Amino acid sequence: MKVLVAVKRVVDYNVKVRVKADNSGVELANVKMAMNPFCEIAVEEAVRLKEKGIATEIIAVTVGPQAAQEQLRTALALGADRAILVQTDDVAEPLAIAKILKGICDEEQPGLVVLGKQAIDGDNNQTGQMLAALAGYAQGTFASVVEVAGDKAKVTREIDGGLQTVELTLPAVVTTDLRLNEPRYASLPNIMKAKKKPLDTKAPSDFGVDTTPRLKTVKVNAPAERSAGIKVKTVEELVDKLKNEAKVI
Ligand code: AMP
Repeated sequence: MKVLVAVKRVVDYNVKVRVKADNSGVELANVKMAMNPFCEIAVEEAVRLKEKGIATEIIAVTVGPQAAQEQLRTALALGADRAILVQTDDVAEPLAIAKILKGICDEEQPGLVVLGKQAIDGDNNQTGQMLAALAGYAQGTFASVVEVAGDKAKVTREIDGGLQTVELTLPAVVTTDLRLNEPRYASLPNIMKAKKKPLDTKAPSDFGVDTTPRLKTVKVNAPAERSAGIKVKTVEELVDKLKNEAKVI
């Protein structure tokens, strides 16, 4: 079974993002970029499926600028077999990305497509769901456990009320939640080997997709600074402050 993993290049999660002086967006010049953390979990899950003998080939795909090759090389170093860069300098929105991924699914016919539950830049939480709808695949989102047996996948989902287990018939889309696994680090020999693994470059137009953004960002503002907290000595004092100062109870 082929497993397709979608990975996104985002600002590294350790970087404190800054808003551009003209409020048009977030500062990206000279900022460390990395693979979206939920996509790292997706790659790890695919690699574990290969180690269990369930996946036969792992294909990593990204839609982004030429520099996004770095994140594909990371996926290859972590265990993906080959990679596809769908190159565009547009900031592609989830629907365009889902349409491109659908085009790749039509070509590659994967048994499973693994995505992050969300990208930490746009926080959209849409691409996996849109892909499942477009491709007519079953979906198990916010996965904390994935078990594949035959043509079925049992996915435990993290939902507001606790956990929900769904059984999907493959092919299916799975989106990863934080507790699914702990991604490994790439070893130096694997980073070297990854340089020789195949990486194809395609264009959105190869899949008949126009990535021109449909949304316009009007203004980006940094959130208001939080004022310092205080410590109270007793529950009575807390209740008094909530009642008379904060006036929330
Ligand atoms: P989002 O819907 O933007 O929050 O992203 C959810 C997931 O969709 C990510 O974790 C990726 O697995 C996938 N995804 C989003 N954007 C891209 C992209 N440009 N290229 C490849 N995969 C993406």
